[in-house]
Amino acid sequence: MDLPHIVALARMGAELDPLQATAGRLWLAGPGAALDEAGHLRRAVDAFWSCQPGADPYWDFMATRMDCDGCGEIFKVENMAICPNCFRTWCYRHGRTCRCGHATVG
Ligand SMILES: [Zn+2]
Ligand SMILES: [Zn+2]
Repeated sequence: MDLPHIVALARMGAELDPLQATAGRLWLAGPGAALDEAGHLRRAVDAFWSCQPGADPYWDFMATRMDCDGCGEIFKVENMAICPNCFRTWCYRHGRTCRCGHATVG
């Protein structure tokens, strides 16, 4: 399996959005733990969350709602799986593997 696109974004120094930074953090906590060898993604994710407003911006974002790419139902982000490659969001019924072929995280 190729590395998900979040890794390439971090390497390029791209500006992440909250969904991407969440997918990156979740990926690093799981399958990406041993794959971010140079630490690019860890630094990009940490830098993103440390400059967001609020006491706990990560959990604030987790409490926002998004719709499932499979069924269109709305869920809190904390109850969804996110694709670290194309950043589609999925409910747990629909998304252990994303339509793009990558395993989701969350
Ligand atoms: Zn769904
Ligand atoms: Zn995907």
